[in-house]
Amino acid sequence: MSNPSWIRPHRSRVECFQSCFALNQFASISLKIILYRVASTAHCLHQPAKGIVPGMKAGKSAAARTQPAGADRLRYFSQHQDQIVDTIRDLVEIESPSDNKPAVDRIAAFLAPKFEALGGRTRLHRSADFGDNLQIDFPADTTRKPVLLLGHYDTVYPLGTLATMSCKIEDGRLRGPGVLDMKSGIALMLHAIAALQTWYGQLLRPVTVFLVSDEEVGSHSSRKITEALAKESAGVLVLEPAAGLRGAVKTARKGVGEYTLRVTGVAAHAGLDPGKGHSAILELARQIAVISKLNNLRQGISVNPGIVQGGTRTNVVAAEASVGIDVRIKSANQASGLDRKLRSLNPFDKHCKLEMTGGINRLPMERTAGVAALYKKAQEIARQIDWKLEEAAVGGGSDGNFTAGMGIPTLDGLGGVGEGAHAVHEFIVISELPRRALLLAGMIESA
Ligand SMILES: [Zn+2]
Repeated sequence: MSNPSWIRPHRSRVECFQSCFALNQFASISLKIILYRVASTAHCLHQPAKGIVPGMKAGKSAAARTQPAGADRLRYFSQHQDQIVDTIRDLVEIESPSDNKPAVDRIAAFLAPKFEALGGRTRLHRSADFGDNLQIDFPADTTRKPVLLLGHYDTVYPLGTLATMSCKIEDGRLRGPGVLDMKSGIALMLHAIAALQTWYGQLLRPVTVFLVSDEEVGSHSSRKITEALAKESAGVLVLEPAAGLRGAVKTARKGVGEYTLRVTGVAAHAGLDPGKGHSAILELARQIAVISKLNNLRQGISVNPGIVQGGTRTNVVAAEASVGIDVRIKSANQASGLDRKLRSLNPFDKHCKLEMTGGINRLPMERTAGVAALYKKAQEIARQIDWKLEEAAVGGGSDGNFTAGMGIPTLDGLGGVGEGAHAVHEFIVISELPRRALLLAGMIESA
C-alpha cells in the first residue's frame, strides 16, 4: 500500500521525475527541463496500463484520454486542500481594512516571508496614506516575459468585524470577512507557485506578484505601480473572486467613476424670510432628477446618486447640499460623453451654484483579443479535467481594468468561488479550491 515511489508504478510524470531523477536538484534549469522530458517518457514505461500522458509522442491511445496530466495535478491540489484552507484562514484572521494603515501593513508583513520562503524577492512600496504595497519577483532562467499575478489584501470590513463574523467552516464553506474578496485568491497564488516549484524544481518562467493595499478605495497609492509592472508583463492574472457559484472567469468589467455634486444656495430663515432664501436642497433635488436621466441600461451606462447630504435645520433654507454619484460604463468611449454631461449641468435657480468634482476612476475592462486569448488558454486547461470553464461580464471594477485598459492581456476572476463579497454572509466553497489552484498553475505556465 505504501510502497516507496521508486518501486511501484508512478502516479504521474512529476512523481517519476522526483523519484527517478533525484539528482535534478543539482541540475541547471535547462537540464531540469530535459530531465523532466525524459521522466515523462520513463513514466510511460513505469505505468502498467494507463500511463500515457497527453503531449507525449507515444500516440493517441484511449489511455491518454483517461489519464490526463490534469488529473495528476487535480489530485495533487486535492491532497493539499486543507493546507490551502489553513493559509486562507491565517489571512482572514488578520483584519485589514483599507483605511487602517497599521492593519494593512500587518498583513503585508505576514505575507512577505511566505513568498520569500518560496524564493520570491520581496519589495515593499511604502505609502504614507494607505497600507504599503507588496511586490514579489520570482526570477527564472529564461528570456520569457513575466506573468503578473494581481491582487489586494485590503478589505471593506472595519477592525473588530471578526468578533461578529468569525472565520469558520460550515457545510463545506469557509466564512469570514474578505475570505472571497480576496484572501482566498492570495492563498491560491502561494499554493500554485509552490506546486509548480515542486513539480519542476523551479519556476519555468518569471512571475511577478503584486498585492495592493487600497483596491477597495480606488487604488490611488498602487495604480502607477500596477501599470508599470503590467507593462513589463506578458499577461495579467487577477485573483479577484470568480463570478457566481459556477466559478466563471471575468473577461469584461464595467468602468467605474465617482462624482460629487455640491450645490451652494442662499440661507434664510424659513419662517421670517422664506422668499429671500434659495434652497440648495431644492436645487439638488431637481439636479438629481436630471442626473438620473443619464441612465442608459441598454447601453450599459448606470448612474446612481447614492449619498445625499445637506441642510442644517428644518427652519433654515439650506445653503449647502451635495450628492455622491456612482457611475458605470460599458466601453471606454462612453467616458468622455458622460463626463461632459455631468460637468455641464445648469442650475434651475440662478442664485444657486453647482460644482461637480470626481471622474471616471477605472476605464472598462473590455473583452479584447488579448483577453479572449487568455480565456481560451484557461478553457483548455480546464478541459483537461472535464471542466467547462465559463466566462462572465460583470459590473464591478478591479485593478484588472487598469491593465486591460493599457492593452495588456488580462484575465480576471481567477480567485475563489463563493458569494457575499462585502456582505455579512461572505463565503467560499472549499471543494472548488483544488481546481482553482490547478487553473492558476496552468495559467502561470501558459499566459
Ligand atoms: Zn476585490
